[in-house]
Amino acid sequence: MDIIPLPAFRDNYIWLMHDGTRALVVDPGDAGPVRRFLGEHGLKLAAILVTHHHADHVGGLRELLGERTVPVFGPATEIIEGVSQPVAEGDTVRIEQMGLAFAVLDIPAHTAGHIAYVSLAAQPGLVFCGDTLFSAGCGRLFEGTPAQLARALEKLAALPDDTRVYCTHEYTLSNLAFACAAEPDNPARDAYLRACEALRAAGRPTLPTTIAQEKAINPFLRCAMPGVTDAVATYTGSRPADALACLAALRAWKDVF
Ligand code: ZN
Ligand code: FE
Repeated sequence: MDIIPLPAFRDNYIWLMHDGTRALVVDPGDAGPVRRFLGEHGLKLAAILVTHHHADHVGGLRELLGERTVPVFGPATEIIEGVSQPVAEGDTVRIEQMGLAFAVLDIPAHTAGHIAYVSLAAQPGLVFCGDTLFSAGCGRLFEGTPAQLARALEKLAALPDDTRVYCTHEYTLSNLAFACAAEPDNPARDAYLRACEALRAAGRPTLPTTIAQEKAINPFLRCAMPGVTDAVATYTGSRPADALACLAALRAWKDVF
């Protein structure tokens, strides 16, 4: 099974999984790149997964569905035109034709109904996490609270270390600039930054990342680390009471960084 990043807009990736015959796409914000890839490779679209309602993730649904009927899985608590299979945590998404199955996680924070899809078949595992976890960062809190973000990130961080993480945006280098401020002394992060700079200079995506990589470098998963707490204390002028307060301050800091 190949997993291809289809670049869309300025910095989105529409992830496309295929077996040479059938394809699955995740968060098709734009139909154009999907149609082109399917056409060029003679693939038939088997299903669509949607993580949340934002236009850059669902904008291509109408056009893709105008040409064919395929199941569209999406968050049960968000209203999205084109979603035919509303799902929530505890549900399993099965795409029989491709032999794929995904467990759904509720990870509200960026939006109120945001979900993730965790593969039940692939080894190592993989997760499509939309705009909740990014490499070296996380999504903005448009509709959720810091406590919801903490819970969502905990769920993702609890996945096996070798889980490949397919985020929807190429934000890694700008996130890493913030990570350098939020945790000045982190040699693993410095090495990762050099590797990501080389990938981008070569025109390649920095994604997928892995859960292990993010635990080592992503300040939003490291709110209990002294280096992060110290940086937040220096920025805000007061020491965060706990990891949740640290996460809230970190997110607010990143919003204006
Ligand atoms: Zn979004
Ligand atoms: Fe987005």
